[in-house]
Amino acid sequence: MSTIRHTGITLNQPEKVLEISWNDGRVCRYPLSHLREACPCVECRGGHQFMGMAFAPDNILTLTPRRSYAVVELNPVGNYALQPVWDDGHSTGLYTWEYLHHLCPPSETTES
Ligand SMILES: [Zn+2]
Repeated sequence: MSTIRHTGITLNQPEKVLEISWNDGRVCRYPLSHLREACPCVECRGGHQFMGMAFAPDNILTLTPRRSYAVVELNPVGNYALQPVWDDGHSTGLYTWEYLHHLCPPSETTES
């Protein structure tokens, strides 16, 4: 089992995109509004019926953002997750690196 690690992270505020490069060579650009919509916390996932179910959309770009979101602050949590503070005040979502890697928008990864 290889471990996915990020090798670089850039919060591109003008374009409202979070850019993460990985140790497998991929560079992913996550639209912030879509990333907010994919927040994995219990509150955002609707509570009990999702308990124990991993929420992991296969294509983050298919989510429909309720509005345009911005990231106020990005806080690393240990070495396993990223905790963004959104401009709506929400900050309880822990995005593990594994989750972020899974969310990598497919349209942004055409390298061949
Ligand atoms: Zn949330």
